[in-house]
Amino acid sequence: MTHNLPQIPPRPPGDDVRGFLPDHEGQQLFEWARQVSPIGPLLEIGSYCGRSTIWLGQAAKAYDTVVFALDHHRGSEEHQPGESHHDEALVDTTGRFDSFGEFRRNIAAAGLEDTVIPIVASSETVGLYWQGGLGMVFVDGGHSLDAALADYRTWAPHVLPGGILAIHDVFPDPADGGQAPFTIWQLATQSGLFEPLATEDTLRGLRRLGR
Ligand code: MG
Repeated sequence: MTHNLPQIPPRPPGDDVRGFLPDHEGQQLFEWARQVSPIGPLLEIGSYCGRSTIWLGQAAKAYDTVVFALDHHRGSEEHQPGESHHDEALVDTTGRFDSFGEFRRNIAAAGLEDTVIPIVASSETVGLYWQGGLGMVFVDGGHSLDAALADYRTWAPHVLPGGILAIHDVFPDPADGGQAPFTIWQLATQSGLFEPLATEDTLRGLRRLGR
């Protein structure tokens, strides 16, 4: 699905915006967000410091919708002290990991404070109360199997027909990375609710069927 609004080229986030989303994957996220903006708002699970949020936010701002940016901002398993993706700069004065301050600064610097709506909470808790349909759900939260399954089961049903479920860090070969995102991508393809849309590096999209 497309619409008649003009193509507006997005600006890649600066190198000072921490994150794990390369620009070619960001461009694909932007394009999907642009396509589904007439369908409903966007929801991102796992915002970290806002790198992917800035891509989604630029599309939402240009095409008149919003991004709900859901993250407890206490870091995933791999962000904790001693783990592979820990960043000492994101430890607060109480010694806890906290990416929310950095996230807010980056969203403000990108001019997206009116477009990006942070939800600082666990995905499952918010999911218990969430009722609205979504144009896009981007799953990039915890990469343990439990976390990925919970995010998929909680949020995939909220994707409206024609909308897009996007999953980051999909590695079909276990030698390349953890299998949880690939597992939920497989569940989505087997659910009968989604059809695979495209793959951009480790980013995969699926379109919600129905009307
Ligand atoms: Mg990721």
